[in-house]
Amino acid sequence: MALTHSLGFPRVGRRRELKFALESYWSGDSSEGQLQDLAAQVRHDNWQVQKGLDFVPAGDFTLYDHVLDTAVRLGAVPARFQADEAAITTYFRQARGRAPGGEDVPALEMTKWFNTNYHYLVPELADDQQFSLNIDEQLKHIREARAAGFKVKPVLVGPVTFLYLAKQREGQDQRLKHLPKLLNAYSQWLDKLAAEGIEWVQIDEPILVTDLANDWQNAIELSYQVLSEAPIKILLASYFGTLGNNLALATSLPVAGLHIDAVAGRAQLQVVDAAWPADNVLSVGIVNGRNIWRTDLRQAIESLKAISERRGNQLWVAPSCSLLHSPVDLAQEDQLDAELKSWLAFGVQKVEEVQLIARALNDGEAAIKEALAASDAAVAARQSSSRIHNPAVAKRVAAITGNDSQRQSGFDERIGQQRALLKLPAYPTTTIGSFPQTPIIRGLRRDWRAGRLTEADYRAAISQEIEAVIREQEALGLDVLVHGEAERNDMVEYFGELLDGFAFTRFGWVQSYGSRCVKPPIIFGDVSRAKPMTVEWAAFAQTLTDKPVKGMLTGPVTILGWSFPRDDVALQTIAQQIALALRDEVVDLEQAGIKVIQIDEPAFRELLPLKQAEQGAYFDWAVEAFRLSASGVADDTQIHTHMCYSEFNAIIDAIAALDADVITIETSRSANELLDVFREYAYPNEIGPGVYDIHSPRIPSVDEMAKLIERAKAYIPAERIWVNPDCGLKTRRWEEVRPALKNMVDAAKKLRGQAA
Ligand code: GLN
Ligand code: ZN
Repeated sequence: MALTHSLGFPRVGRRRELKFALESYWSGDSSEGQLQDLAAQVRHDNWQVQKGLDFVPAGDFTLYDHVLDTAVRLGAVPARFQADEAAITTYFRQARGRAPGGEDVPALEMTKWFNTNYHYLVPELADDQQFSLNIDEQLKHIREARAAGFKVKPVLVGPVTFLYLAKQREGQDQRLKHLPKLLNAYSQWLDKLAAEGIEWVQIDEPILVTDLANDWQNAIELSYQVLSEAPIKILLASYFGTLGNNLALATSLPVAGLHIDAVAGRAQLQVVDAAWPADNVLSVGIVNGRNIWRTDLRQAIESLKAISERRGNQLWVAPSCSLLHSPVDLAQEDQLDAELKSWLAFGVQKVEEVQLIARALNDGEAAIKEALAASDAAVAARQSSSRIHNPAVAKRVAAITGNDSQRQSGFDERIGQQRALLKLPAYPTTTIGSFPQTPIIRGLRRDWRAGRLTEADYRAAISQEIEAVIREQEALGLDVLVHGEAERNDMVEYFGELLDGFAFTRFGWVQSYGSRCVKPPIIFGDVSRAKPMTVEWAAFAQTLTDKPVKGMLTGPVTILGWSFPRDDVALQTIAQQIALALRDEVVDLEQAGIKVIQIDEPAFRELLPLKQAEQGAYFDWAVEAFRLSASGVADDTQIHTHMCYSEFNAIIDAIAALDADVITIETSRSANELLDVFREYAYPNEIGPGVYDIHSPRIPSVDEMAKLIERAKAYIPAERIWVNPDCGLKTRRWEEVRPALKNMVDAAKKLRGQAA
């Protein structure tokens, strides 16, 4: 009898209840008691959804972040947060730098959880870090679940992953010295769970799918030798890829169970099954935990049949990873068309799929006849649907040649022509695209979408906004202007809504961090552009001014990275399709007289594979997609790109290979690190290191910004430097933006030796 379980469930709630409860608590509108009651409700609902599984998870729920919870349970709270105050106050001060009733203090750093769009709080360890275990909160959740009649499997972030993700200000490479103390704490943790009568505990070690150096591999080995002595069965969970070089290590560990991701690591299922002892539990993550497609049940059952026959109840069936990365419930989507809906599965449906697969393995396919027929029908419909397959798109992709991703001439030739045409001063100033999204602008979009405003009135109002933004920029003395993006709700959604092949959900929210959720579009079919998407607004803006207006597009890699991609073609193919649609837009913009065009790629680094061996292939297709979108124009049309993070070290070659004429990047928060990159790498084209940190309401001074540029001049020739903010200004207010940009323009003037 194959058993079933899940590795974790979304904690935001079906309707993002937790988000709203958190925000209400933070703003002082509700009490801790009210927040905790709501949290208990969400946990209970989650268990209820999962009650058909043989084990439900506990300890996966968190008010903010599960890595922070782990640090707190281990007593690893940095000194600056320690105060005589309620535990919840200390908790939120770590997460957000502030909490009702506590002192403001710099929050913990936040960064992306492996290759997902979830952000965790980075644990900070002191050089002499001690640990002291307090798992009362987790025990409370376990008791809650048991009291309600659920069979519980607690979930923990593993000790080695915890250390690996942690940061130690002095001595980052010495983190492993904490391992013995940490293992002590974990041993106590497991003892306590055992004393609670727990049979199985899930310990997550996602670092097992990354390239691990020897010392980290040794740490894994040591840890599980120690922890396997606890009187409890350990299910060691890996996910987000194959075990790769850690396969021999992982399959030799003395733990009772091993979970593998058989979706991202489909290829490893047979190998692991062969290597993993038959009387140990093998948990196979066969339902994709981080995409929205319905599982092909027949195929899943087929791939598990032999394993199930051999392993019996030592086979567990599960989603590939925590369902935290999936939206909650498809049933709420009342505005998706029935056909598309029949192709999808969200968290609730994925839990059902896991059960169906196990039932078929245990009782034969006849036991799930109807569900299997529905799955087969969905698979067949998707394979042949004309909504998905557009022969014209396939033909165009097949006809792509190497020339299509080459500009006509090299940078040196192009930049001469562009300078002659644009006649910009030294240190040209520009912005990244968006200007403040005022309540008026958001109201316009809302009214228009709700039908309260006619198309004509909406367009007239947006035109006015554009005109106002152009006038503002002229008054500020900026050199390359933008139209301000007033018509865009979101830089991906805007394009997705205008491109064929995209669909949108109403409640398909996924937690990004804390109370923040994103609602990625679904790319369900071949992507194509029915008509120009941005030309009218850009061209209109250009009629209002003699200064060049920069057209503004979201790049192919970012559109792909911030959507749920289809799973029936390679990511590369989707990227090529989007790139071709954008290429047409770029050419149309040029024809409409727009001679500077920016193609934003803030997600360029996000799709980077975890294993180094796979990174080269990614860079090849990602760079090609960008270049494909950018290369249809004449030499004197200037292509910009924009990225907003500064860990460029790993990707600097690829960034140079994009061959954009100008790149603008975020620098303000870590100017030094970024400039280090350019010390070692002579970036060949023009570059605008951001001088104004748009994440902060602070207004930087003229001198401060001028100094940043002065420093950049040590590594980047002066004639190739642009002056711009870090990112778009849509989240800021005009009262901040106006003086900050004024100072920025004055800083450029100062560098030019002009009077301000
Ligand atoms: N052009 C976009 C803007 O200015 C870029 C946003 C981003 O990089 N995330 O808003
Ligand atoms: Zn940005």
